[in-house]
Amino acid sequence: SEYTRSVSSPVTYIGETRYEIDRYFDVQDALKTAIESHQITIVLQPIVEASTRKIISFEALARWEHPKLGSISPAEFIPMAEKLGHIHILGMEVLVQACQYLVTFDEINKARPQVNVNVSAHQLLKIDFVDDVLEVLKRFGIAPERIVLEITESYLLDDNPIIIGILNKLHVHGFKLSIDDFGAGMSAITSLFRLPLYQVKLDMALINEAMLLDACLKFITHLCEFGRMHRITLVAEGVETIAMLNKLTEIRMPYLQGYYLYRPCAPEFWLEKSAEVNRQAMQV
Ligand code: C2E
Ligand code: MG
Ligand code: MG
Ligand code: MG
Repeated sequence: SEYTRSVSSPVTYIGETRYEIDRYFDVQDALKTAIESHQITIVLQPIVEASTRKIISFEALARWEHPKLGSISPAEFIPMAEKLGHIHILGMEVLVQACQYLVTFDEINKARPQVNVNVSAHQLLKIDFVDDVLEVLKRFGIAPERIVLEITESYLLDDNPIIIGILNKLHVHGFKLSIDDFGAGMSAITSLFRLPLYQVKLDMALINEAMLLDACLKFITHLCEFGRMHRITLVAEGVETIAMLNKLTEIRMPYLQGYYLYRPCAPEFWLEKSAEVNRQAMQV
């Protein structure tokens, strides 16, 4: 049948046409130049407190608009940057832009939000990573306490003692640690106990599952309870509908992020909107 054929056949390269292969190499070639010439920019997506709708943080998400190749998704260029060894400078570029935003925002608004920055394990493993990050913060006069470092759960699965050590070091310096995409696949459950976590972000897939399956909804309800007991803030990712928002509020999910609340937008947008954001949501 169609089913058995699709599961038993070896890996096929459907979609990898000549054009797509050429494009892949074009994108690879363009990546380093793009990073160095500031073609990689960030957009910011708010994370809100469910009970007040107050924005507590903005997640920085990398964007790449190439003059000829068009817009390239981070799902494509982040793994590429990791593979080619460019993720460190890319990550630093994202951190610099995030800090720049905080500085500008602080000048016009007293809400003092945090910023969430995605960090890949490859970055953590670079010698001097902690020093490099501290240097950027010092340059902008930003306290580490305002930076939430998001580490994707799959990176934590192998319980690498070096990574755990670096994360602990970052925690000692005041950075906040967050596990990203929790529940997306094989969960790094032990990291809930072994790391000094500030936050756990529940993957969209898990949130979607909870909307369909009562047992899953109960499970994330218990996770929220666990979070409250251990002072770990839980964030539901991918809140796309009012139905999801209502259900998550019902189970007392403390923080939310998703298109239904706010889409990721350019920093300039949030700066312009700052007065309004301040009045509506970021009441201090
Ligand atoms: P992530 O960190 O889990 O970010 C969440 C992704 O979900 C973002 O996709 C965001 O735009 C999208 N999203 C937010 N709300 C919704 C929603 O309601 N519905 C749906 N369907 N999607 C939503 P994006 O920006 O394409 O980024 C994809 C991934 O690329 C990120 O997943 C992150 O793992 C990685 N990434 C992005 N920027 C960076 C970066 O600067 N450094 C590193 N290391 N990784 C990055
Ligand atoms: Mg993230
Ligand atoms: Mg991530
Ligand atoms: Mg995520």
